[in-house]
Amino acid sequence: MSFPNTKLIAFDLDGTLLKEESIYELLKLQKNGIKKLELAKKINCYFKENVIDSATEMNMLSSMLSGMEAEKYRQRIDSFELAQGADYVSKILKKEGYTLAILSDGFLTVAESVRRKLNFDYVFANELEVENGILTGKLIAPHNEKMPYSGCINHNLCKRKVLTDLCGKLKIELKDVVAVGNGTSDICFLDIVGKSIGFNPNSIIEEKADVSVKSNDLKDILPYIIN
Ligand SMILES: [Zn+2]
Repeated sequence: MSFPNTKLIAFDLDGTLLKEESIYELLKLQKNGIKKLELAKKINCYFKENVIDSATEMNMLSSMLSGMEAEKYRQRIDSFELAQGADYVSKILKKEGYTLAILSDGFLTVAESVRRKLNFDYVFANELEVENGILTGKLIAPHNEKMPYSGCINHNLCKRKVLTDLCGKLKIELKDVVAVGNGTSDICFLDIVGKSIGFNPNSIIEEKADVSVKSNDLKDILPYIIN
């Protein structure tokens, strides 16, 4: 039996529905991939130490994909490994009649690939500019408008704004939404929903979320959504 009022479940992508962080997986494919990966982790440290903000971090990482063939990029993305249990979770939640959405501060092509595999209803993410079949490294952020909220960080996609707009469109109240996330870009949508679940969360999210699930199997979130 489902919790009576929940209608929409909003998921983060990287580290939640996907096993790995997709930007790191893509950088590994590049020429000098290992060096690029090391640099990317350094950039991530600067973000964690508040030297740079989230939007700057993503813009810097995206620029490292410059020169990659768009077709190779798409093919690689389709082979990204889903989180263990993601397939089962999406099947059960669809069967229970929930609307499912992906909100990602990462890349739309990655999010779209996961949406197709898991039969999700909605997907929101950033795009990478392509010119003549080659990634330019420029990130296009169609959802960067933020909501007045002190906890919002400077990110390329404000999940709080995107989720609020989606709920308005679907005529669903935010209290009837469950949000699942793990990282700092999830900070601004977790405390506007009826229930927030941290899945292997970082310390900030662990503090913010209603419940935290530490597991290598996504299906361990189901008892907090369906009883
Ligand atoms: Zn935000």
